[in-house]
Amino acid sequence: MATVVALGESVKAYCKGCKKVLEHAVISVTAANRPKSVKCSACDDAHAYRVKEPATRKKLGAKGVGLERRYDELTAGRDLTLGTKYGMAVQFTDDELVEHPKFGVGLVTRVCVDQKIEVVFPEGTKTLAHGR
Ligand SMILES: [Zn+2]
Repeated sequence: MATVVALGESVKAYCKGCKKVLEHAVISVTAANRPKSVKCSACDDAHAYRVKEPATRKKLGAKGVGLERRYDELTAGRDLTLGTKYGMAVQFTDDELVEHPKFGVGLVTRVCVDQKIEVVFPEGTKTLAHGR
C-alpha cells in the first residue's frame, strides 16, 4: 500500500548523516502525495526520501565491482517509481532519483557548479544538464 502523506507530516526515513532510520518531516511530495524529500529530525539535514538503510557495502572498491552492482547498491531501498521526470529546466539535488526517457531511472550522485549533474543509470554514469 502506498504511503500517502502531506507536507510537514512526519515519516520514517533513512538518514545518510545519522546512518539510521529516523523520523523526518516531509518537505516536498510527489504528484501522488508520496514523500519526495524529507528533513531529518535529528540532524536537520534535508535530502531525498529513502525508505530503508542501503545494503551493506561489503566489497566496495574490490576488483570486479561492475557498474550494475554499483547501481544496485546505490538504489537499494529506494522506491524507483518516485523518480523525478528529467528535463533540462528541472533543478535536481544530490541523492535524487531521476526518470530519464532514454536511460531509465537513475540516481544523482553529484551536482556540479555549471548546472550539470552526474547520474548513475543501470548502463553507467551520465552527465546531464539541469536547471537551465
Ligand atoms: Zn539525520
